[in-house]
Amino acid sequence: MRNRILVVEDEKYNFTLLKYIFEKEGQEIVWAHNGEEAVALFRDEGRFDLILMDIKMPVMNGFEATRLIRESGSDIPVIAVTAYAMPDDRERCLAAGCNDVITKPLQRDAIVSLVSKWITL
Ligand SMILES: [Mg+2]
Repeated sequence: MRNRILVVEDEKYNFTLLKYIFEKEGQEIVWAHNGEEAVALFRDEGRFDLILMDIKMPVMNGFEATRLIRESGSDIPVIAVTAYAMPDDRERCLAAGCNDVITKPLQRDAIVSLVSKWITL
């Protein structure tokens, strides 16, 4: 099934990797370069099935962006993709409104299997 996935990521390398992985799965990928851009795209376009949300980004981080998206009343699946690996990072992501968390470095099988828990690939 073709879904539209919003990838929120400030680093081009990470975005390119996610785009490659999910386009191979037949998914449509849209890039937001930071949290502020993600919130604006989400507000103006809305038509997304899932969000992959980096946490550490300039302008607006992933915690804040996820909070704003939740405040708008959306229950879209948001998966935090984070380099943070402290025990309370997962809790912080979930408290901000993320549904799930995956830790970088990204591994194809792990992220595909996590995403497929939330949408039908
Ligand atoms: Mg980042």
